[in-house]
Amino acid sequence: MLCADNLFTGTKKNVDHLHNHPRFEFMRHDVCFPLYVEVDEIYNLACPASPIHYQHDPVQTTKTSVHGAINMLGLAKRLKCKIFQASTSEVYGDPSVHPQPEEYWGNVNPIGPRSCYDEGKRCAETLFFDYYRQHQLEIKVARIFNTYGPRMHPKDGRVVSNFIMQALAHEDVTIYGDGSQTRSFCYVDDLIEGFVRMMASPKEVVGPINLGNPVEFTMVELAEQVLKLTNSKSKLKHMPLPADDPKQRRPDISKARSTLGWEPKVPLTEGLRQTVDYFRNLS
Ligand code: UDP
Repeated sequence: MLCADNLFTGTKKNVDHLHNHPRFEFMRHDVCFPLYVEVDEIYNLACPASPIHYQHDPVQTTKTSVHGAINMLGLAKRLKCKIFQASTSEVYGDPSVHPQPEEYWGNVNPIGPRSCYDEGKRCAETLFFDYYRQHQLEIKVARIFNTYGPRMHPKDGRVVSNFIMQALAHEDVTIYGDGSQTRSFCYVDDLIEGFVRMMASPKEVVGPINLGNPVEFTMVELAEQVLKLTNSKSKLKHMPLPADDPKQRRPDISKARSTLGWEPKVPLTEGLRQTVDYFRNLS
């Protein structure tokens, strides 16, 4: 297993436990540059996914999704191997259809602060489907909804890590807007099981397939759960809502259920407990 990462948002610590595995190898590499290796399957997960990270250098974000996809698709074409693309619920933008099925084309602002990520990922999907039609490549495109769990960066900036870190420090919990916007949170182990099932699925299963947890929460409900689990004295503090922040998001996972026999198993309280333990023990 070859893990290639430029460590822009990840850390080597996250794969420490794998170094003794006889078939694990780590390589520092940025997908914006071509990669010449020999592998049997490719999972392309490259691109920072947290708004603060992907908006830090928006041009680089688009390059990572678009040039990265071209490089990985080129590699798959040379090796004639299967390739999985980690696409995103952001392709639906601020959705006017709820919950979001794969047939929905989305409501994305092409010129806003989130566009570098959203349009980059949309263009990557286009490239995957063009390589599929033009070069008969075996593709697997998954659209990933909000995911959380141990080994997230404590300063990742996303809502789950922010709330837990703030609650553990008894600092104000920052709710953007009135906190009525919704998200559906999938525990990382459930998500990975979905990736593996999709990669192992028959050739005709190309996607896109939504992978996420269909149980929806408002940000205020999430904050309350985190405060309860951490026994925190923190108070909720309302802050301005970022531009183009989607008001609601919940995956329709009928396709994942019927084609992959997949659905999330870990409820939010259980997943949050694991994540709180991880953040509590960070040195
Ligand atoms: N959010 C919040 N407080 C925070 C961080 C995020 O209220 O400290 C909100 C954010 O405005 C959004 C939701 O939580 O409505 C999820 O944000 P996140 O950045 O985790 O991911 P997104 O789904 O927006 O990409």
